[in-house]
Amino acid sequence: QVVTRFAPSPTGFLHIGGARTALFNWLYARGRGGKFLLRIEDTDRARSTPEATQAILDGLAWLGLDHDGDAVSQAEGAARHAEVAHQMLTAGTAYKCFATQDEIAAFRETAKAEGRSTLFRSPWRDADPSSHPDDPFVVRIKAPQTGETIVADKVQGNVTVRNDQLDDMVILRSDGTPTYMLAVVVDDHDMGVTHVIRGDDHLVNAARQMLVYNAMGWDIPVWAHIPLIHGPDGKKLSKRHGALGVEEYRAMGYPIEGLRNYLTRLGWSHGDDEVFTTAQALDWFDLDGIGKAPARFDFKKLENVSGQHIAMMDDAALLHEIQGFLKATGAPALTDAQSTGISNALYCLKDRAKTLPQLIEKGHFVLTKRPIEPDAAALKALNTVSRGILAELTPHLRTANWSRNALEEAVAAVAETHETKLGKLAGPIRAALAGRSVSPSVFDMMLVLGRDETLARLADATE
Ligand code: GLU
Repeated sequence: QVVTRFAPSPTGFLHIGGARTALFNWLYARGRGGKFLLRIEDTDRARSTPEATQAILDGLAWLGLDHDGDAVSQAEGAARHAEVAHQMLTAGTAYKCFATQDEIAAFRETAKAEGRSTLFRSPWRDADPSSHPDDPFVVRIKAPQTGETIVADKVQGNVTVRNDQLDDMVILRSDGTPTYMLAVVVDDHDMGVTHVIRGDDHLVNAARQMLVYNAMGWDIPVWAHIPLIHGPDGKKLSKRHGALGVEEYRAMGYPIEGLRNYLTRLGWSHGDDEVFTTAQALDWFDLDGIGKAPARFDFKKLENVSGQHIAMMDDAALLHEIQGFLKATGAPALTDAQSTGISNALYCLKDRAKTLPQLIEKGHFVLTKRPIEPDAAALKALNTVSRGILAELTPHLRTANWSRNALEEAVAAVAETHETKLGKLAGPIRAALAGRSVSPSVFDMMLVLGRDETLARLADATE
């Protein structure tokens, strides 16, 4: 069974790169009936905060990336990590090192002066520790010094590291606490992780972590180190590029399916498929489709994908997204009347809206109530002349059977008597019905509002 995990350090919000890593792990596991686990790497007590952990949990929940079981706290496993270090001591795959910081610094200086590698070589590697029963020590792994370690990576290929470039890293500090490098391996092993999918900034760590797996005789997981995300200009992702917390994407109003789609495509591809559902992504996602080149984050593309999802989403799902968006931004929830209004109008709000706020703005005419308060632009469209024309239109509309054709004919008839184009009339009608200059077509608005409401709004405007 496939077991993946997401292992964020809770030192800040869940940024877009982390969200993508989580998504890849989730897709890979869920698409194979496997497990997706969450481990909070909170060993850096000074930098980890409960707020950051909560922000990560919230972000994952919003993205719909549910994990199996409880989130594991790495810090709480310290005793287990130390136990493994002691097992390694007993087995002779690790040793106690009594070298002081001064001695290590002196070693490096001499090595440098003599033009040798400055990797620290502890004199305690093969020494007998019994002469120092009470002295503080760290535990170092006894790493191989010849040969090479090959990280067989699903994305990067075989990455070879010469063992003479790996030092005997510390696995247990002198205060008895485990180092990060030990904790990660013990946790991944104990959690039964079969596939480690993470940013390629951890590729070098993988070689060192393999030393621990080998020392313990544990199975090495499948590695997949994914290239980091860059901005559209190819430079490291910055805030300006979109290196924001996922909650900010939520506030910008991208539908979740759309954001998941976009994030899935960020570094992974499936033929020419650009727009797909999460169900399809679950079906298709694999490690072979992950590219070697850094993905580029592009807001234009995100908006485009988002808009296509809004257009293809079914009404119930879209209404759910709108409600979630309003809630997340602290806006008042829709009243029943507003929900009904939006539902009736969705068919003409969906296309061309790239984000949920754009859709909501377009749907203002069903969210608002009489008397309509026109904004500045709408007010301008309602001058004395245009009010007169609207007054003329009213009897035509009153007698029209409320079909699109009949409504178009009624407006066309009035336009004709004024030798004006139909489009010229749209402005004042829009202003009267929506009070805004952004709305669906005037005929769609009339159809959605119905005869009574339409006539009442026109009457208000011509009073
Ligand atoms: N905690 C690490 C990070 O936030 C991830 C470690 C891992 O995935 O192995 O970058």
